[in-house]
Amino acid sequence: MPKKIETVVFHDSSTPVLGGIEKGGNVVITTAETLIAQARAHALWPLTFGLACCAIEMMSTVASRFDLARFGSEAFRATPRQADVMIIAGRLSKKMAPVLRQIYDQMPEPKWVISMGACASSGGVYNNYAIVQGADQVVPVDVYVPGCPPSPDALIYGIMKLQEKIKRKKAKSFGDLRLIELTPRTLETEVKV
Ligand code: SF4
Repeated sequence: MPKKIETVVFHDSSTPVLGGIEKGGNVVITTAETLIAQARAHALWPLTFGLACCAIEMMSTVASRFDLARFGSEAFRATPRQADVMIIAGRLSKKMAPVLRQIYDQMPEPKWVISMGACASSGGVYNNYAIVQGADQVVPVDVYVPGCPPSPDALIYGIMKLQEKIKRKKAKSFGDLRLIELTPRTLETEVKV
């Protein structure tokens, strides 16, 4: 059984010809899932969801001092349809929870969520009737960033952790790569082809 290639490798082996490819031909060999995961992980477009004071720290990440652009995530989107990762920055009130869920549902797959700060992750100091005691009661959270408020560096570290998580995920099938939205209609077309 052929060995599965899991990382990007450059053809620079002692073998002059590898599968019909001559050495020195600037060829990269990898799997589609590795390539797609690398592209997705290093171009995460965040959805702005500033709810309270944590949002100020989130805004700082794109400023020159922290420069989130170094990690490919500086393009904050104001519409869920163009975003990959929702950053919940601040306390989530029960009144806002259905709105957050609706916006999450409008994001295309694949999508991820970062819970930023003590309030978003656990209600923080607001243990009362008005605040949701953890955003994971409303949407699935991938990374929790602790702190009150977390520093911009901490949020960047959270984004780096999310990148690692995306790159670790293995696709079990072609459909698992989520290259297209697999609706019953597209599945029908695929079967015909
Ligand atoms: S964690 Fe602290 S800084 Fe963040 S929203 Fe709550 S009170 Fe504000």
